[in-house]
Amino acid sequence: MEKIGIIGAGASGVFTAINAKTENNEITLIEKNDKIGKKLFITGKGRCNITNAKFFDEFLENIVVNKKFMYSSFTNFDNYALMDYMEKNNLKLSIQRGDRVFPKSEKSNDVIKLFEKQIRKKNINLRLNENVIDLYKDDKFKVKTSQSAYEFDKLVIATGGLSYPLTGSTGDGYKFAKKFSHKIIHQVPGLCPIIFKDKNLNVLNGISLKNVSLNIETNRGDFKEFGDMLFAKDFITGPIVLTLSSLINRSRVIRMYIDLKPALDFEKIDNRLLREFDKNPNKDISNILKKLLLNAFIDIILERSEINNRIKANQITKEERHRLIKEIKFFHLSFDGLKDINSAIITSGGIDCNEINPKTMESKLVPNLYFVGEVIDVDCLTGGYNLQVAFSQGYACANDIRRKNE
Ligand SMILES: Cc1cc2nc3c(=O)[nH]c(=O)nc-3n(C[C@H](O)[C@H](O)[C@H](O)COP(=O)(O)OP(=O)(O)OC[C@H]3O[C@@H](n4cnc5c(N)ncnc54)[C@H](O)[C@@H]3O)c2cc1C
Repeated sequence: MEKIGIIGAGASGVFTAINAKTENNEITLIEKNDKIGKKLFITGKGRCNITNAKFFDEFLENIVVNKKFMYSSFTNFDNYALMDYMEKNNLKLSIQRGDRVFPKSEKSNDVIKLFEKQIRKKNINLRLNENVIDLYKDDKFKVKTSQSAYEFDKLVIATGGLSYPLTGSTGDGYKFAKKFSHKIIHQVPGLCPIIFKDKNLNVLNGISLKNVSLNIETNRGDFKEFGDMLFAKDFITGPIVLTLSSLINRSRVIRMYIDLKPALDFEKIDNRLLREFDKNPNKDISNILKKLLLNAFIDIILERSEINNRIKANQITKEERHRLIKEIKFFHLSFDGLKDINSAIITSGGIDCNEINPKTMESKLVPNLYFVGEVIDVDCLTGGYNLQVAFSQGYACANDIRRKNE
């Protein structure tokens, strides 16, 4: 009977285990937590955005790093195959805004329960509360845990990345991979808030912006996202910020600014201001701007444009008006880095894809050693893509284990 060891019972490890089981193998799934899927539980704010229903090309566009590496495993087990799998196992799904797929119940725990049931049904030897502390290979893989020692014919490393370490992903997989001489791409935060240096923006704390565009110019090109974002005390977050963080996390940022009125070009704003000034010549400029901007921004923008906030509309010069519009279209924030990896949604970096067979997830350096999930250097945008990557890779690995076992 072939013995398979899988380290880590997150999305990728569990999915590998339940799909790799045959009558001729014995699968041991080792997890240091007291339950499976601790990170899975908090995904999608507890609702678990399990995948995304976009078609092939559009789906792949959302993979930021090592898209090509995913072609094979995604083709063999894509988002529609995952949805089929879930529904066949009685988990009803719903497709929501942006083609995001959730369990209909909107409870991540229902996904976890499905997996627990499969683990029991398939007779997988689940070892909870066991931390793998060391491993090596001679004729077989020798794995030492906090409780016990094991020997395996095949070993799968599914230990996750570095983000949200309280869920168990503390980067152990990188240490294990290094022991087998695998190259690790330096890890940086992905999908995380962006810190700014500006000290005088306290009034913006808690303000959320809708339909703005955030622009970041870097040494590797300029990036722009349109949508919603949120100000905190010294950082910005929200959908467009998270996306941009993943696009710029290996670049040197030159300039960052918000276009507060992306739907209106310079001339349109100018005409609009002129109309308002004509209608209300004796009104304070700060009052007039209430029609165009959120209150919290008005004094900051006037100060940045060097315009007194008590000045009347009919006193504003053309130069002042143009300075004002410039501040609205280019609301500058001094970039001060990304939040640390602990608070990132995903780890960018990890085991170098060049040393892994993309069809099987087997190491190209060590036969019978496999890697799946976030531990590998693949990362995607938000929308269910990261979990799909974990499931597609897990399936590819399981397929290879099953095929070689038949
Ligand atoms: C807050 C948050 C929300 C997210 N929401 C979504 C979402 O809605 N949709 C989406 O697609 N993606 C989401 N993601 C990303 C997604 O959760 C991860 O990409 C995915 O869970 C990675 O799965 P994994 O199996 O590779 O790693 P993990 O889920 O991190 O699992 C790794 C497991 O290995 C165990 N382990 C580690 N080291 C050892 C050891 N030495 N011994 C024993 N066990 C060990 C850990 O305890 C852990 O259980 C979210 C991430 C976060 C942080």
